[in-house]
Amino acid sequence: MSGDALLSVRKLVKTFGEGEAQATVLHGIDLDLQRGELAALLGPSGSGKSTLLTILGTLLKPSSGTHVMLGVDLVAASEAERTRFRNENIGFVFQFHHLLPDLTALENVMMPAAASAGRETAAMRARATELLDAVGLADRREYRPGAMSGGQRQRVAVARALMNRPALVLADEPTGNLDRQSADQVMALIGRINEESGCCFLISTHDEHISARCRRRIELVDGQLLRDDAIVTREAD
Ligand code: ADP
Ligand code: MG
Repeated sequence: MSGDALLSVRKLVKTFGEGEAQATVLHGIDLDLQRGELAALLGPSGSGKSTLLTILGTLLKPSSGTHVMLGVDLVAASEAERTRFRNENIGFVFQFHHLLPDLTALENVMMPAAASAGRETAAMRARATELLDAVGLADRREYRPGAMSGGQRQRVAVARALMNRPALVLADEPTGNLDRQSADQVMALIGRINEESGCCFLISTHDEHISARCRRRIELVDGQLLRDDAIVTREAD
């Protein structure tokens, strides 16, 4: 891999089930991501986007093929090593925010760090405060998810994904549950964070407005990469 290489998968196959119920969902994917990329993962429902993101996120092991990120062979790694690697290097944003309802916005953002360390520290609190400022929610720190709009909750989820300074954020239809204006705000935020922090984002989406703002589009159809191209021009914010 080159100096800017972040991850590489080769001949990645995922099969679910056994015997007659067996179904192959990913048919030999080859994909490289570089540090700092902003890439959209497109494809019809059922094409394997979530399965691919789940494997890249080390939440699921491939049936065969190779998966290397930051020089670490994640197929050979133990579950404990994979968990530690995930906590340190990968953030997640899902379609539904998955915030904990009894925690404030600030506590939710701190969670990834506090959960690994088993306690909260002043440094974590400062980092979470900074992140909530960055996503435009400085005045919502003490609000619980139930008191925020869908777009605000998803911005908290983006802040939480960034808490441990990951090299990669995997976002699975992050705006799929939002209205147009909130979706555009969340995507503008992701674009800005990508430029400022150099964190690589891979975003599955059906939304042309979202994919148009990504520098690269990767399209999955029936578990195979149909297209992988970089967009030359990009609309300004
Ligand atoms: P997408 O996110 O593009 O809609 P998915 O990755 O969720 O696609 O699903 C791709 C295919 O894999 C679908 O046919 C789905 O039913 C199947 N699938 C996903 N997860 C599982 C699972 N845990 N067990 C069996 N089949 C699964
Ligand atoms: Mg999906």
